[in-house]
Amino acid sequence: MIQLDVRTEKQEEVIKIIFDLIEELRGKYNKEQIIQETKDKGYPATLITELMTRAMGGDLAKHRDMFISTDKKGMLLKLDSLRCIINAYVDEHADKSNIPESLANYAPGRLLLIAMGLATIAAGKGGMDLIKSKYLPEIMQGHSMCYGITEPDAGTNTHKVSTTAVEEGDHYIINGQKIFISEADTATFISLVAKVVSKGGGESIGTFIVDMRTEGVKKTPLDIAAFGDIQYSVFFDNVKVSRECLVGVSGSKGGKQEGISSSVFQALNLERIGVSLICLYMGKVVFSKGVKQAKKKRSSGQPMGSYLNIKHKLAKVSLRLELANLAIKKAAEEFDKKGEPKVVGLYSNIAKLVSSEAAYEAARIALEVYGVEGLNRRDNIGQLMQMVRLPRLGPINNEMVLNFIGENLLGLPKSYR
Ligand SMILES: Cc1cc2nc3c(=O)[nH]c(=O)nc-3n(C[C@H](O)[C@H](O)[C@H](O)COP(=O)(O)OP(=O)(O)OC[C@H]3O[C@@H](n4cnc5c(N)ncnc54)[C@H](O)[C@@H]3O)c2cc1C
Repeated sequence: MIQLDVRTEKQEEVIKIIFDLIEELRGKYNKEQIIQETKDKGYPATLITELMTRAMGGDLAKHRDMFISTDKKGMLLKLDSLRCIINAYVDEHADKSNIPESLANYAPGRLLLIAMGLATIAAGKGGMDLIKSKYLPEIMQGHSMCYGITEPDAGTNTHKVSTTAVEEGDHYIINGQKIFISEADTATFISLVAKVVSKGGGESIGTFIVDMRTEGVKKTPLDIAAFGDIQYSVFFDNVKVSRECLVGVSGSKGGKQEGISSSVFQALNLERIGVSLICLYMGKVVFSKGVKQAKKKRSSGQPMGSYLNIKHKLAKVSLRLELANLAIKKAAEEFDKKGEPKVVGLYSNIAKLVSSEAAYEAARIALEVYGVEGLNRRDNIGQLMQMVRLPRLGPINNEMVLNFIGENLLGLPKSYR
């Protein structure tokens, strides 16, 4: 088979180290143990802590430069290396699909939320020092982060957030509500997007890192049927935070702060690329099941894959997944080199749109090949289809991505404020 993703020697070396690590951990942690710990603690804490400690030390440590940038002009995290490894892993293991269930369900989301928190902090003044001195040590001990942007009346439109942070003396007072917050139960910190009202009367949209244990922060679980993790409403009732908690705020015009801070966009671009990677991963897993089934299952004495209508549909999906991989590669490269903000935004949005659509199409065609057999629990095609439907709705729905492309690539007039 032809390998489409050309890799460097260094990438191959890192991929081997990571594959060996995964194999070792797979032998060490059995599925029941992981499921039990997930029930008790909300996530497989022992496995994740070992994974993170091993990732920071051992053979991987000497390749840290592949994942974390030391170049002050670049971004903190290097997403294209991550894409390359995920793609290599899924290409080699997708049809075996024996990745521990709970790790597949919980780890990507949790790590993405932590990465978004760190990207937000890194974007602020003195962010790298703050990460090294305060947040990395906490994260290494198992503390995690969640991300709060969505509100009951501001789903998609961040300009309309009504959670306020009012400057008073040397601190801010936060009031408001966020909904659909993943991991709010286990996170120690929340990256909170709020309307910042400064003493001078200026308003802007900025990001605070708030300790969830602060007085006035409350959370209640939502009754949601989404597969994977639980979402929460998080309430802020006169929550007092120090000035240092505001890690990202927009520039000022005539002494007044205005607009949405770049820290918000950096976290959202990272989220879009991260979700694209999850889509690519899930899409390839479900697709490889479909291809395997098309080779095995017979209809009128012939393997399903020999019929042109099935073969052509599978071929088209494989191309869509490869094109999604290329779109993610482009977005990750622009993100890694801290490209022009509008360009990074455009490619992140494109990657999210094409990868979520490709993954959904992969599940749809796989189910077509399987027929009703696809609903059995062994292959889980029905459940995978529900999972890959979700990224078309969130973290940003694909209609908003089309709006963004229409306005920023084609120069069409705005359709909402
Ligand atoms: C599993 C899950 C986990 C989540 N985790 C988090 C989290 O951790 N933190 C967080 O902050 N949020 C989280 N969210 C929320 C998610 O980011 C929002 O669902 C997303 O921003 C979209 O908001 P909405 O569904 O309220 O969309 P709405 O704005 O209510 O839009 C609803 C629909 O209307 C259409 N629409 C809306 N505006 C336009 C427009 N201008 N043009 C064309 N069509 C439009 C779209 O089709 C859209 O699907 C999560 C959501 C899910 C499902």
